[in-house]
Amino acid sequence: MVMNNSNYNSTQVNATCPACGLLCDDISIVSSPQLTANKACVKGVSFFKRAFKAPTDTLPLIAGQASDLDSAINKIVEILHLSKNPLFAGLGTEVQGMRAIMRLAQKTNASLDHMHSEAGVRNTLALQNGGWMTTTLAEVKNRADLILAIGTDITSSHPRFFERLIENTDSLFKQQPPEVVYLGTTQDAAINVENLSKLPEILNALNALLHNKKLQVTHVADVPVATLQSLIDKLKSAQYAVLVWSASMLNIPHAELTIQSITQLINKLNETTRAAGLPLSSGDGDTSVNNTSAWLSGYPTRLRFNNGMPEYDNHQYATSKQLADCDAMLWISTFNPHPPIFTKAPTIVIGHPDTQFERTPDVFIPVGVPGVDHNGLMLRMDSSITLPLKKLRDSKLPSLTTVIAMIEEKLSNEVSP
Ligand code: SF4
Repeated sequence: MVMNNSNYNSTQVNATCPACGLLCDDISIVSSPQLTANKACVKGVSFFKRAFKAPTDTLPLIAGQASDLDSAINKIVEILHLSKNPLFAGLGTEVQGMRAIMRLAQKTNASLDHMHSEAGVRNTLALQNGGWMTTTLAEVKNRADLILAIGTDITSSHPRFFERLIENTDSLFKQQPPEVVYLGTTQDAAINVENLSKLPEILNALNALLHNKKLQVTHVADVPVATLQSLIDKLKSAQYAVLVWSASMLNIPHAELTIQSITQLINKLNETTRAAGLPLSSGDGDTSVNNTSAWLSGYPTRLRFNNGMPEYDNHQYATSKQLADCDAMLWISTFNPHPPIFTKAPTIVIGHPDTQFERTPDVFIPVGVPGVDHNGLMLRMDSSITLPLKKLRDSKLPSLTTVIAMIEEKLSNEVSP
């Protein structure tokens, strides 16, 4: 894929792709005569293409009218100053951006929720209820001998997963790639289920078989019990099985219980062999945002500051709940031009310069894209390492961190006697 750009500041540079939780750090961006993102998958190329096509000198807007940064900051401070219950939503950012947002949220008693937290909460509920054993991408690459992909083909959301972790030839401790079993809804699934709402039945049957229970039926959710037994035999004889799921794919009632069924399988398998889970991330910096929130407040997002103290409630502080009560919304999306969700409350958007609006926000400040317009830090989907994002071109756009710091400073001056 080829991208045009005149602001690119080098002929070739290595880059980290923030477009999914794998954070591939072997991307080579070549500038001349046109931009190419070597080694990036289609999703990664599309990210870089859109980021590089975005203008680097877009002006802030106040009520749709072009303005300057200082005036836009003043307007934001005016809105936040009047607000008793601001909602900071979207939160598509990296570690440094989230650190700045947390400081501002503490000062303004805001509630915080990431745009993909509906999926994240499914994992959090399962983790809170029974704990879990998960693994890292390095362990998958070096040790896994069986991958069970549950309800996800993995590649749709994390396109280079198999190329980087399964088909690699530089594994430290194994000579053969792991066997991969896909339990899902598409035709290429080894164990095919009609739709994902059948997964709870299948997983409960797998748990029963793993506990040596005899099922008095021939099929469960149209899957032969013999097929399920054969999967259990594979899992028991594997030396390091990894069970992969994607909470964002599990749009089924009480998905957290389905995830808990997966973690119970893992617990039981570990009585006789080794097995671990690998939850896939949902994107837009969700892993970075939730880890940063947890470092700084003790909780992942869906929290609120009250008199500067964090309160966590994964139901009450959901964006969908807070939209009804908030009196101002700050929407943040820096990786992708996701438009804000609708609210009647005054709306501030700090985001990707290409963001399009159905309803004009009160203030829009376009900011640089992390990993293209400025440096940054991101946590990989396994939360095990932080990778640097590099500035790849010259840009007049401020970073989210700079804008939030300016708001913070102005707010402090406003409240000072
Ligand atoms: S697999 Fe993910 S991180 Fe790697 S290039 Fe594709 S989108 Fe980017």
